[in-house]
Amino acid sequence: MELVDNKYQLTGGIDPLELCKTYGTPLYVYDSSVMERQYRRITEAFQYPDIKIHYACKALTNLTVMKLFRKWGAGLDCVSIQEVQQGILAGYKPEDILYTPNFAGMDEYDEAVRLGVKINIDAIPMLENWGLHHKHIPVCLRINPHLMAGGHENISVGHIDSKFGISIHQLPHVLRVVESQGLLIEGLHMHTGSDILDVDVFIRGADILFEAARKFSNLQYIDLGSGFKVPYKPDDIETDVEELGEKLSERFTSFCREYGRSLTLMFEPGKFLVSESGYLFAKCTLVKQTTSTVFIGLDTGLNHLIRPMFYGSYHKIVNVTEPTFKPRIYTVVGNICETDTFGVDRRIAEAVEGDIIGFYNAGAYGWMMASNYNSRPRPAEVLIHNGKAHLIRRRETVEDLTRNQIQIDI
Ligand SMILES: *Cc1c(COP(=O)(O)O)cnc(C)c1O
Repeated sequence: MELVDNKYQLTGGIDPLELCKTYGTPLYVYDSSVMERQYRRITEAFQYPDIKIHYACKALTNLTVMKLFRKWGAGLDCVSIQEVQQGILAGYKPEDILYTPNFAGMDEYDEAVRLGVKINIDAIPMLENWGLHHKHIPVCLRINPHLMAGGHENISVGHIDSKFGISIHQLPHVLRVVESQGLLIEGLHMHTGSDILDVDVFIRGADILFEAARKFSNLQYIDLGSGFKVPYKPDDIETDVEELGEKLSERFTSFCREYGRSLTLMFEPGKFLVSESGYLFAKCTLVKQTTSTVFIGLDTGLNHLIRPMFYGSYHKIVNVTEPTFKPRIYTVVGNICETDTFGVDRRIAEAVEGDIIGFYNAGAYGWMMASNYNSRPRPAEVLIHNGKAHLIRRRETVEDLTRNQIQIDI
């Protein structure tokens, strides 16, 4: 969203204020041209020809968005069987879906086998179970190389105490299980969590995985997960995918030469593909001056965008209605009966009741982490595609809140 002649405009000259008038607030809006740009950036950064991007759809699980990525050639990374089911609804072929759950029960894995998707195993006890239940179904192994990736502790999953993946230090045990049970290992995987700033840290992880890969003779693919960082503030660093593409293509090519076969190189970004495509628009319900602070209060809260409170993440906040008014210093808060502060001491063009306030970087983990806390319905979602705005999810209603409740006679 950019300022053009002192008015905010979305791609195709679409006026966000018009969208808010048509669909109401709070409202999530996504721009497919940004998703496509990000997707092409990754695929074009790699000279290595056999590269496959799986969209990590937990970031934004909407059938239309999933369909778009399919059209562009992506596969899907799913962390639950329900995501897999939606991926199939969105038209993905089972072989283009990788199911990477964590602490899922055998019944979910059984279902994944039935659906014919690729399966990632992230614990030794599950690998041992595999021999008993699905010995002849090839699987991928999620390895934890124990990289200390950056980011908030809630999204860094590579540390030694992490519940994710099979520790690289347990590889000898893994090999014993694989050999004794005759398991088929088709892929190795790592996902060290969000916000790896440094290309070299990524490559160190890849090297650890390549080293482990030499122990498995029937691999088809190596999946290096995600960790791609996006900028939130103007001076933020983002993952240099071009540098990563260049360095990793070279490394992977020489690994394949040693391995004796060309494998598929896979990645599974979520945030990188959709974060910058999305905005949350909310209405200022009240401006409240206390003795020390001026608050902008909104018709949304941590129930609709929890990232600032959950991860301490930064979202740029602007006054969409009056972008040219003199900036004042505000603390922006939600309407939930919890502390739900979106931003402290932000410079925002002077706001009054009724103004539309816009949040940037709301495409990933925005709507998907929304809840009905305080019994407020979840927002509608609009997608801008080929210059037009399309409603891709209706706003919830009070009926949605009570639909599954059963009143008993008392
Ligand atoms: C969440 C997740 C991703 C995507 O992470 P982003 O930080 O959104 O890119 C990829 N792979 C797995 C296994 C995940 O759980």
